[in-house]
Amino acid sequence: MKLLFIGPQGSGKGTQAAIMSKQLNIPHISIGDLFRNAEEELKEELDEYMEQGKLVPDELTLKILKKRIFQPDCKRGFILDGFPRNLNQASLFKTITDIDKVIEITLSDQEAIKRLSGRVSCEKCNESYNIFTEPKPKNPLHCDLCGGKLVRRTDDNERAIKKRLEIYHNETEPILKEYQDILIKINGEQNIDKITKDILNSLK
Ligand SMILES: [Zn+2]
Repeated sequence: MKLLFIGPQGSGKGTQAAIMSKQLNIPHISIGDLFRNAEEELKEELDEYMEQGKLVPDELTLKILKKRIFQPDCKRGFILDGFPRNLNQASLFKTITDIDKVIEITLSDQEAIKRLSGRVSCEKCNESYNIFTEPKPKNPLHCDLCGGKLVRRTDDNERAIKKRLEIYHNETEPILKEYQDILIKINGEQNIDKITKDILNSLK
C-alpha cells in the first residue's frame, strides 16, 4: 500500500506516519530525513541550496525520492510524509508512481497556532516537549529528564507560524483536489490514539 500523509504543521502527521509504518510494516519516508541522509553526490547538490537558504528545486527532490521508493523495502509500499507540497511536485510525482490512498489530517489554524506555540525544549539536554499536547512535561517550566529550564523554540513565534500555515493553504491544499478519489480526511484535533484508530479503520 502506497500512502501519502498530508496536513499542516502541528497536525501530528509525522507522528502518525511513524505509528502507521510500524502497524502496516512498510517504511516511513520523510522528505526531511531523506535530505539529511542523502548520498554523497546528491548531498553536495542539496547543500548548495540549503546553505544559501534557497528552496530545493522540485526536480532534485524528485530525483532523491525516486531513488528511495524503488529500494527493495518499498516493494510492499511506503508512507510518504512531507511530499508533494505543491501542484508542480504532485504532477512530477505522478510520472514516477501511483498512490493508493492520501490521508489528510485536518486541523484548524487556531489549533495549529496553539500547538506550535506550545513547543518548548530543554536548555540543557535539548529534549523537546509541548505544553499543550503530547509529549507534555510534568512541570511546564522544567525538563522531566534533567530538570533544565524549558524554553520556547525560536522559530515558533506567531508570525512565522502564520506564514507557514498560509503557505500550506495556498500551495499544499490545492493538491488535495487532485487526489479527491482516494482522499481520506481524518480529524487531527483528537488524541493521538484516536487518530491512529481512525486511520486504521479508514484503510480497512
Ligand atoms: Zn533536559
